[in-house]
Amino acid sequence: MEKNIVKIEDFKEVFILFNNINCMFENNSFDNKNEIVSLISILSEVILNSSSDVNNQKIYSKITLAVIDEINQKHNVSSANKSNWLSVSKELLALKYIQMNIEKELYLQPLDDDELREMLFDFFDYSGNKNIMLAHFFATLKYDYKNPKFCYDEIIRIFEKHPSLFSDIFQNVSYAYTPDTICDTIYDVCPICGSKTGEPYFCAAQALCGRNNFSPAKLWIKCNDCSNLYAYNFPSVKNGEINGHYTRNVKNNILNIKNQLYIYSQIFNRIRMYNDKRKYLEIGVGNGEMLAVALEMGYDVSAIEICKSDCETISSALDVDIKWADFLDYETDEKYDVIIMGDVLEHVLEPIKALEKAYNMLNDNGVLWLSTPNFESATIRMRKFTDAMWNQNNHFTYFSYNGLKPFLDKIGFTVKRYDVSDRYNGSMELILQK
Ligand SMILES: [Zn+2]
Repeated sequence: MEKNIVKIEDFKEVFILFNNINCMFENNSFDNKNEIVSLISILSEVILNSSSDVNNQKIYSKITLAVIDEINQKHNVSSANKSNWLSVSKELLALKYIQMNIEKELYLQPLDDDELREMLFDFFDYSGNKNIMLAHFFATLKYDYKNPKFCYDEIIRIFEKHPSLFSDIFQNVSYAYTPDTICDTIYDVCPICGSKTGEPYFCAAQALCGRNNFSPAKLWIKCNDCSNLYAYNFPSVKNGEINGHYTRNVKNNILNIKNQLYIYSQIFNRIRMYNDKRKYLEIGVGNGEMLAVALEMGYDVSAIEICKSDCETISSALDVDIKWADFLDYETDEKYDVIIMGDVLEHVLEPIKALEKAYNMLNDNGVLWLSTPNFESATIRMRKFTDAMWNQNNHFTYFSYNGLKPFLDKIGFTVKRYDVSDRYNGSMELILQK
């Protein structure tokens, strides 16, 4: 008999083989025992060749031999042996599929074949086995930009069945989905322009980031009117609860330095080409480094921070009175020469309102320095959906420069300068003048 060993990469062939055996088992059709023994031998060889776990190989060989013995001797297979053989075959194939996806980054490639897709989802069903579910998850991820809504719905379903799927499998992930406490608001209206013309754009598997405040997937929507992106689902909790916490490891008033600090002096020197006055407001202080450089460079600083613990830690470390507030709720009659909004806009629920508010808080000729991700940046043009930007779970909107510009014009800002960020890949830095 000619042996036609399929490769494990040809998952479609493997599924067909598995399904044929499954049908024969279900119909008790053992008349042509040579045929079924041959099919079982081929599949077991594929599985044994693909598994590197000696223990798994031993167990699987034993089970397979028991099934073949029964067929040869009794022309039948006991139901216990059947289900055991099928489930172990399935699990070892699932393990191989997971390994292929993790090692070869196959999850970055869409499945073009609808038939394969159907088989994959049939095969990796909701059987309750965590490895099969993880294989199902990786198959689902192939649709993150090809069919984002399908991908989103499917990931939510997977985690409803297996809330701690990732923490059960990956040692360093502590994510568990708790639908009772995680309550997302669903946005069917663009929070930037108010249009209802949005269409699914990308599904981010947030569960991979392992933060428990977030549902396992986030669906990015692209607005057809303003052409910017927003999250379809976003946590309903207060914005301060899911943002900040940059200083959680800080002890004894010693702050961490993440970026090279001269980067900030370059930013301030650029700002001074347009406004060299000193009354300064920073909205969202991060880990405090920009504020520290502003002090060094002689600004008369004020700041607002939404995260209570960061606010307290940085106030104390830098001896600056930082106000704990959500910028959108903050009330003051003060006006400023320079307002800093560094990588804040993408976290805010009403980004245009925040920009309008900053404009109104500027003195004449005052400057707003704005840094925010640009989903049409060079980084994203090059890295596409593989960039870490897509999995930032507390980001709510993404602008492109072309999508942001009309709003800046309408508010009254003049764009004085565009720079690619030195600090975050994919962010744009704008100097905007009143
Ligand atoms: Zn819009």
